[in-house]
Amino acid sequence: MLVLLKRGTGEPVAGDIASRLRMSGLSVYRTDHEGQVRLGAVGDGAAVDWDTVRGWPGVEEVRKIAVPFKLVSRTFQPHDTVISVGRCAIGSAQLALMAGPCSVEGEEQVFTIAEAVARAGATVMRGGAYKPRTSPYSFQGLGEEGLKLLRRAADAHGLAVVSEVMDPQLVPLVARYADILQVGARNMQNFSLLREVGRATKPVLLKRGLAATIEEWLMSAEHVISHGNAQVILCERGIRTFETYTRNTLDLNAIPVVKELSHLPVIVDPSHGTGIRGMVAPMARAAIAAGADGLIIEVHHDPDHALSDGPQSLYPAQYHELVGQIRTIAEVLGRRV
Ligand code: PEP
Ligand code: MN
Repeated sequence: MLVLLKRGTGEPVAGDIASRLRMSGLSVYRTDHEGQVRLGAVGDGAAVDWDTVRGWPGVEEVRKIAVPFKLVSRTFQPHDTVISVGRCAIGSAQLALMAGPCSVEGEEQVFTIAEAVARAGATVMRGGAYKPRTSPYSFQGLGEEGLKLLRRAADAHGLAVVSEVMDPQLVPLVARYADILQVGARNMQNFSLLREVGRATKPVLLKRGLAATIEEWLMSAEHVISHGNAQVILCERGIRTFETYTRNTLDLNAIPVVKELSHLPVIVDPSHGTGIRGMVAPMARAAIAAGADGLIIEVHHDPDHALSDGPQSLYPAQYHELVGQIRTIAEVLGRRV
């Protein structure tokens, strides 16, 4: 339920209403919108007499949130969530440009790529140290050593860091090095992992599952937020369809759909969305034109020798050119890089 308080209601009254709702067994989350306190009361409210709540001093209105993803919904929070990471305000007029290799492979590799993506205009560096690979015989990532290298390379070029965490137990470790915790597509419904990143204090980049509906994706975001972490960035990265020419089918429909349903920022990963280097830039441009809040793109200076996802990695010069085009498209939309 959404409990709207009367404008001008003081903190003691607002706090009292929240604790009375909690005493009924509900979890209560708060957002302030245009000078009004909005309380999202979630959980089993069967025992609550909402007509009585409507009569409580300070309560203006009680409304049902008619979607299953409550805290994620625009009903709960009408205004866009903006998440500050380093020099970037994700979800604001400024587009979030995240770029870097699929995997952290070594010192020279990450420093070379960090310099290139920073020069092109990226503000967040990506790089996996724990890799979800289809084959157990493929490169699995450098682990903590990789995170250390990524952090140093990013710091040397004023970049924030996004990196994937696969294991709930490793959330504190990854959070020590990364500014954003990535939950990969394969783990979108790993509810133990969602709980742990929900308890973390770093923003979460939640990738859409390979076969997840938009509602399932938003429900996963609800898991994270309900555990206390409201800083969730959604990432459309392509879904499985009957089409096999491209690695995945990048669902650009998801951008306006998510924007309508949710206040959370949504970015697009055209690298995994297409799997083909030549398709990355067109889909990146389309994503921004469709209203995405940013892009996460794989860039490698020597993709032929990359230990993962070389065929979909842009050369630094290609990324540089793409950022110039994104800047032009952004301007048309009243946004900026
Ligand atoms: C990645 O970002 O390298 C990755 C594995 O992405 P996804 O989870 O979308 O497949
Ligand atoms: Mn990859």
